[in-house]
Amino acid sequence: MSEYVNFLMADVKAKNQAQPEFHQAVQEVAESIELVLEKQPEYRTAKILERIVEPERVIMFRVPWVDDRGEVQVNRGFRVEMNSAIGPYKGGLRFHPSVNLGILKFLAFEQVFKNSLTTLPMGGGKGGSDFDPKGKSDNEVMRFCQSFMTELFRHIGPNTDVPAGDIGVGGREIGFLFGQYKRLANEFTGVLTGKGLNWGGSLIRPEATGYGAVYFAAEMLATRNETLEGKTCLVSGSGNVAQYTTEKLLELGAKVVTLSDSSGYIYDEAGIDEDKLAFVMDLKNVRRGRMSEYAQKYSSAVYTEADRSADHNPLWAHKAECAFPSATQNEINDKDAANLLKNGVYVVSEGANMPTVPEGVTAFVDAGILYGPGKAANAGGVAVSGLEMAQNSMRYSWTREEVDQRLRMIMKSIHEACVAASERFDRKGNYVDGANIAGFIKVADSMLDQGIV
Ligand code: NDP
Repeated sequence: MSEYVNFLMADVKAKNQAQPEFHQAVQEVAESIELVLEKQPEYRTAKILERIVEPERVIMFRVPWVDDRGEVQVNRGFRVEMNSAIGPYKGGLRFHPSVNLGILKFLAFEQVFKNSLTTLPMGGGKGGSDFDPKGKSDNEVMRFCQSFMTELFRHIGPNTDVPAGDIGVGGREIGFLFGQYKRLANEFTGVLTGKGLNWGGSLIRPEATGYGAVYFAAEMLATRNETLEGKTCLVSGSGNVAQYTTEKLLELGAKVVTLSDSSGYIYDEAGIDEDKLAFVMDLKNVRRGRMSEYAQKYSSAVYTEADRSADHNPLWAHKAECAFPSATQNEINDKDAANLLKNGVYVVSEGANMPTVPEGVTAFVDAGILYGPGKAANAGGVAVSGLEMAQNSMRYSWTREEVDQRLRMIMKSIHEACVAASERFDRKGNYVDGANIAGFIKVADSMLDQGIV
């Protein structure tokens, strides 16, 4: 690490104490951007990196609501408006008990570069709450969403900040949030993405992150004249991203053998076929049950409970060629990364945001495998959110095939941008540096154009 990055990180850590995920995300980008700063000192003079790590605005608010027993509950709500150099703030809302300012700042920071890579005009933001939708009734979720939006609505707008879903925020939550926004603002606009098809949503938006992560893996494999057909794949999570990653992998002839939730994971040696995936979708999206039920239904599967005290996750220790981490940040630790490499995995396409710890990232890059970092590999979700915004502005909707075709082209161009940037800065094959650099340059040049703001 250079003196410059050391100095920057010391400052970031001092000013943002107890935010380890934010430090981790900044450090990774700063190490890649160093290469650019050497060649283009104007970025350093204009203190672009120092400005990019400082959110343009952070909103934090009280979210009071009443549960089904009539008891008052209080949660904390946030919106981090990180960077608007290339468009309105754009990024998801996460509802999970682990949510805090540091986690949302890391996600908003990543979002800035990811959105830049999509080729669409979107700035970066992220928000959410420490509210846990698990075990809550639909009415409780609705009351919470209404209270959350009652404060958030004054800060967002179709040309200002356009939130979407993330962990714990799916179609149900977006519906309740949109309903309350519309009621308060007295206007029907595309202020959220991931909307229902009857009221302004885009076809393929639910599928987009998972499909995109698979398209990105396919692009990486194509550089070695290979395809996903016949490949064995490990997928973690069982939510939106994991489900549609699995769906697209099946369509392309791959075999998926794992899925998980925070309680444990299933290993199905026979492979998760379309019927089994339909069972998972009903289990998770309708009945809101646990993955352990999969093993009760299908005898080919073994369920292993999560063990938080273990030094590795056995999900990542099965023989496979590809891995699609699709649950949460830092779910692949250094031991897991070593197990993946040992067991033959040479394609990692990150559906989740920052799912691999820095030591794991280094191990993947050093091993020369096809490693697609989240900000490139999972950008399909926000890309189709951008397409949803475009359709809303035109008051028009594209067909499933049109949106899917655009998604495919965007993932292809993100892959090309990563490859081109990595080659330009002598980091051939390194998608981490490629994604960070390509994402950074567009935002940095826009910031230079717009003066010191
Ligand atoms: P969902 O809420 O639909 O699903 C999340 C899945 O991950 C669930 O299976 C959940 O299990 C599991 N999970 C969540 N937190 C933890 C944890 N701390 N430990 C273990 N398992 C956990 O979310 P998404 O599928 O939308 O998001 C998954 C990842 O993809 C996140 O990192 C998100 O930021 C990223 N992402 C999502 C996009 C989108 O469009 N939705 C876009 C780009 C990235 P359980 O149900 O037990 O909590």
